[in-house]
Amino acid sequence: MQSITILGSTGSIGTQCLQLVRLHPDRFRVAALTCNRNAELLFAQVREFRPGFACLVSPPEHLVIPEDLSFCQFAFGQDGLHTAARDIPADMVLVSIVGIAGLAGVLDALNAGRQVLLANKEALVTGGHLVTELAGKAGKPLLPVDSEHSAIFQCLQGAAGNKPVSLLLTASGGPFRTWPRERIDRATRAEALNHPNWSMGAKITVDSASMFNKGLEIMEARWLFDMPGEKIRVVVHPQSIVHSAVEFADGAVIAQLGVPDMRVPIAYAMTYPERVATGGERLDLIRLASLTFEESDPVRFPSLRLAKECLNAGGAACTVFNGANEAAVAAFLRDEIPFGAIFTLVEDALSALPGLPADSIDDIYEADRRARRFVAERMKGTQ
Ligand code: NAD
Ligand code: MG
Repeated sequence: MQSITILGSTGSIGTQCLQLVRLHPDRFRVAALTCNRNAELLFAQVREFRPGFACLVSPPEHLVIPEDLSFCQFAFGQDGLHTAARDIPADMVLVSIVGIAGLAGVLDALNAGRQVLLANKEALVTGGHLVTELAGKAGKPLLPVDSEHSAIFQCLQGAAGNKPVSLLLTASGGPFRTWPRERIDRATRAEALNHPNWSMGAKITVDSASMFNKGLEIMEARWLFDMPGEKIRVVVHPQSIVHSAVEFADGAVIAQLGVPDMRVPIAYAMTYPERVATGGERLDLIRLASLTFEESDPVRFPSLRLAKECLNAGGAACTVFNGANEAAVAAFLRDEIPFGAIFTLVEDALSALPGLPADSIDDIYEADRRARRFVAERMKGTQ
């Protein structure tokens, strides 16, 4: 029996992890659950999975904890999140919070010596050097949950210690893959949220439409697999069946395939190196008949070029990329800016904030704040 804490249990990844716990009650016990503000869903999860600790980071006003949940200790705010990640004993901690808000939970869990299952890519994008150093010191390598990175991690199980010469990150291309740039620039919220293959949280769905998600994933892969950006190649693959691949010195390429279902990479991280049933559909190659691959268009989607420029620039460039994108996506989701403004706001933030340091966690949060402030001021027209 393994105990698991889920930071971000009410989200797309968090709820799918709980589906796996439900499917395997003999293997997993829930230690703690946290969410931002969805009290109704958190209460239902506490009622079903009976953790000893639960936290709402931004609880709604006048919150009343139902009487039948008195077996569970409830906490609130950032302190509650720290407690869940650091102080509540658990064999593993799944970090499925969205955004840089996940970084603190990753650092807390690693500092407490816990096995981290990492869905949150923004923690590696912003604090990759600190996070991987801490995981290395603790002797607890991060177990990737992001489907592409899980795929690469799975491919490497067959590598017998051979280091790959390059990584192939696949991308669905998102809902705007074939759209002209003028139409992308005017895309609505509903169009951006209509992903062809995956059902995910709003922020990552918008990132998939802009291809910023793939930019963030290049950065994530750089840290998880210690691979320089120029050896990470993005391949657009609209069917989302090949989840990613690795290339070796002899030219052999090993790929991982499966239907697009996040329960597979989540379960692999939960039971690694074992594999268990996930309750999903199985791959039928005959029915699919063909898999296609194409280049990403750097003019319509500048996200990948910007990501590689940030990796080359070093310092806090990736944090600025992430912070500006988070702020721009939030504004787009509030209908305050057109879709195309996400590209220009991130590119302009990177030009306006070059050379910021990322030596400490304080530097990273400062770069994040400055990127968000830049976006807010540019939107008010004062930059
Ligand atoms: P989501 O929006 O569905 O859920 C986010 C969770 O984090 C919720 O439980 C929410 O309450 C919590 N949360 C939000 N803001 C918070 C804050 N400031 N402090 C504490 N908790 C907060 O997001 P998701 O789609 O599940 O994605 C989670 C992470 O996993 C993201 O980093 C995403 O990039 C990554 N990821 C998701 C998928 C997917 O299929 N959804 C796939 C690969 C990677
Ligand atoms: Mg992914």
